[in-house]
Amino acid sequence: MAATAPDPAPAPGAAALALHCGHWFDAKAGQRLGAATVVVQGERIREIKPGRIEVPGATAIDLGDATCLPGLIDAHTHLSLTTDADPLRWNLADFAVRSVVHAQRTLQAGFTTVRDMSDINNETVALRNAVDAGIVPGPRIFTAGRPIGSTGGHADWSVGLRADLQRDLGPNNGIANGPDEAMKAVRQHYKDGVDTIKIMASSSLFEDQPGGAIPHMTLAEIKAVADTAREYGLTVGAHAHDPESIRRAVLGGVDSIEHGTFIDAASAELMKLHGTWFVPTICVGKIVAENADEWGSESPQEAARMRTFGNLMQAGAGRAYKAGVKVAFGSDEGACPHGENAREFVYMVEAGMPPAYALQAATTHAAELLKKSADLGTLEAGKFADVVAVPGDPLQDIATMRKVVFVMKGGRVYRQDDRPVAAN
Ligand SMILES: [Zn+2]
Repeated sequence: MAATAPDPAPAPGAAALALHCGHWFDAKAGQRLGAATVVVQGERIREIKPGRIEVPGATAIDLGDATCLPGLIDAHTHLSLTTDADPLRWNLADFAVRSVVHAQRTLQAGFTTVRDMSDINNETVALRNAVDAGIVPGPRIFTAGRPIGSTGGHADWSVGLRADLQRDLGPNNGIANGPDEAMKAVRQHYKDGVDTIKIMASSSLFEDQPGGAIPHMTLAEIKAVADTAREYGLTVGAHAHDPESIRRAVLGGVDSIEHGTFIDAASAELMKLHGTWFVPTICVGKIVAENADEWGSESPQEAARMRTFGNLMQAGAGRAYKAGVKVAFGSDEGACPHGENAREFVYMVEAGMPPAYALQAATTHAAELLKKSADLGTLEAGKFADVVAVPGDPLQDIATMRKVVFVMKGGRVYRQDDRPVAAN
């Protein structure tokens, strides 16, 4: 939708930029190659040439020995949310204002595109529009707006409140019971201007359910969401931790499974059969584990359970990768601190994925999940000039992805010499 609407074409003869990269990551091949010159015209890449080539008439940007990569894509963010958010005291405006700062941090960290996987009340739709209009700097945003789920589930904000404060929420609030309401919820989201749909197919890990999590939507409800979403060209991502919820989501026709903590051999096979993407979000598990003493203060058992989340999610990601399930990068930014999205790379490699695969998860794979491979995911002529650079070799040391020194989005430089560029 609007997030990839082209800017006005550059004026004829508009000055080109020549990025001189010490090395570059060929995301299609999964290889780090030698020096290259990326020629940028307007918002697109005009060509990429091996070696350090002088381009007549172009302004040169020398990135020294740095490795250039396609702009990174985080397929699971929450730009308006934080772990200290207080939905009972904060107004929508509080979330919206903060989201502007989070968008800048995300972009500065090298993530030039995000799939935002739920907010409070469509404030990320407004954020996307403001970024697209050039009013605030931020990544390209493909947002789900509010999550869709069932009464009492992970999308129902009134769970746990005193009875007289609870609400009987309906499809217009993202709460759907039965296929007809599921269809209406998607149509309301279409009306709200979202780019994708997020469903809460299972309980969250914070509920202490048998087996870790239980289904919260029926196959018929999920199928109604996915069928309706497809009518509008919207993809669907399903929060699903347990094998039965994963099975229903895959059979229902979603594009991706989010978290997938307890993925087993059968659910992995089913995902492969249907070509369903897996977005592991290990970072959120690690953050919960690190904060277990504070967040699990209700009982020692709760804290002990939270301490296991990181390793459980990391193990699930490892099982899925080994089984051959396609993995796309997602940090659950918002729970994972804003701008620290690249921690996920380190956790993915620890889980057993080769560094090149982890980088593909955040480039070619995530672009495919978004159905935006024609515009995003590789450094190639014709694609958006979304380019980042890191010092050293990320295939040797994946942690260097946390040290992005250069960020270009749509031909515009937002970070250079390891500093934000002013007046953007
Ligand atoms: Zn999330």
